[in-house]
Amino acid sequence: MDRDSRIILDVGRMNEVIYTRCCIAGGGPAGVMLGFLLARMGIDVFVLEKHADFLRDFRGDTIHPSTLEIMHELGILDEFLKRPHQEIRELAGQVGQDTVTIADFTHLPTHCRFLAFMPQWDFLDFITEQARRYSTFHLKMQAEVTDLIEEKGGVAGVHVKTPDGPLQIRAQLTIGADGRHSVVRERAGLEVINLGAPMDVMWMRISRRPTDPGQTFGHIDRGKILVLLNREDYWQCAFVIAKGTADAIRRRGLESFREEIAALAPFLRDRTGELQDWEQISLLTVAVDRLSRWSRPGLLCIGDAAHAMSPIGGVGINLAIQDAVATANILGPILRQRTPSESELHVVQQRRNFPTRATQRLQILVQNNVIRRVLGSPKPLTLPWPLKLLRRWPILRRIPARVIGVGFRPEHVKTPEVHTSGSRESNRVAS
Ligand SMILES: Cc1cc2nc3c(=O)[nH]c(=O)nc-3n(C[C@H](O)[C@H](O)[C@H](O)COP(=O)(O)OP(=O)(O)OC[C@H]3O[C@@H](n4cnc5c(N)ncnc54)[C@H](O)[C@@H]3O)c2cc1C
Repeated sequence: MDRDSRIILDVGRMNEVIYTRCCIAGGGPAGVMLGFLLARMGIDVFVLEKHADFLRDFRGDTIHPSTLEIMHELGILDEFLKRPHQEIRELAGQVGQDTVTIADFTHLPTHCRFLAFMPQWDFLDFITEQARRYSTFHLKMQAEVTDLIEEKGGVAGVHVKTPDGPLQIRAQLTIGADGRHSVVRERAGLEVINLGAPMDVMWMRISRRPTDPGQTFGHIDRGKILVLLNREDYWQCAFVIAKGTADAIRRRGLESFREEIAALAPFLRDRTGELQDWEQISLLTVAVDRLSRWSRPGLLCIGDAAHAMSPIGGVGINLAIQDAVATANILGPILRQRTPSESELHVVQQRRNFPTRATQRLQILVQNNVIRRVLGSPKPLTLPWPLKLLRRWPILRRIPARVIGVGFRPEHVKTPEVHTSGSRESNRVAS
């Protein structure tokens, strides 16, 4: 039997109790990657995801060169690239009538000099498939963390709601990777510094035709922003709106909404009629914030739970994965021996503070100087001077490529692969 993972039935209270080394709340990019890395080191880990699958369309689709580099270091890159994906070597945007290339990834110092586009559910399926090769990896779907188990001034695990009834997972380390509406950070009483976001996103699908442009484009004009993600047979459309204006847009009616989309992307005009009901259009709220301290004894938050990222630059997934790699590098070796102290947990924040703050600062700069200005002005737009520079001097396109593709202080896998004996089934004990 595995010495870490035991399942005990507390018959009196009809409560199942699982003991493990590390439990991770949230099966997004941060949680799934950390679960994989710890299991690969031979550490028993439970990843808890509240949904039944990863198939939700509000996830971003970008897999960055730095994430591809991590997959290369893990020896899984070739396998990953066999899955259907698109390789984007340049990112372009349309401002008014002008189209300009914003980022050129072809000069990055990485194995893959492109941004891979793959629906995030396929990416998460791939990582969990890799993680399942290790008997120490456990993924529990439909497992919603509802509260923390507090003991002796520290966090000793989580309370979980499942279709089979309540569950307690007791762990030496609890990780909050449950995203920007994190229950874990709220229950832990960690202080949130809200940096503000002037926009929300209306998120919908419109069908795609083979004759449509193949690239992923941002369209900006007359107070409106539309981002189109190519998902082969349909466009995932993100219509950026000023925060709090969704009700006013709905009141103006679907016909006016369809016209706004068609005005920004005329090639979609003959298909906007597919939007027949507001039910087809989800409202995604954008938040930019960060915790002043990411940890408490027994608990660490990473990814959006520690620092909710704006969709600007499509870098949030990258940061979440980089946090997971740093956490495994710093805490994995300790966790194999014992419970990390709070000061050891804090080292993860010290390592990741600079990239988080620098990226958020850039996002806020773009929010305040571009998004707020665009959304506040119905006038036709001309190319702002930074984009004129990018058009005039193509070499400058390497700078946004570096920030988007690699980010600040990229992490590298330093943890070993350790093979454990015993099958998953041998972990189970009932009392
Ligand atoms: C509209 C929008 C578009 C975006 N597009 C992009 C993009 O294209 N590229 C990019 O890099 N970034 C994008 N971002 C940012 C990106 O989505 C996040 O930064 C990134 O997903 C963070 O990863 P995470 O693992 O920390 O959290 P998440 O991806 O939010 O994952 C958290 C997981 O935890 C689960 N969960 C939540 N609560 C519980 C609970 N109580 N118990 C158990 N499970 C729970 C959730 O179901 C989810 O699976 C976008 C953000 C927004 C708002």
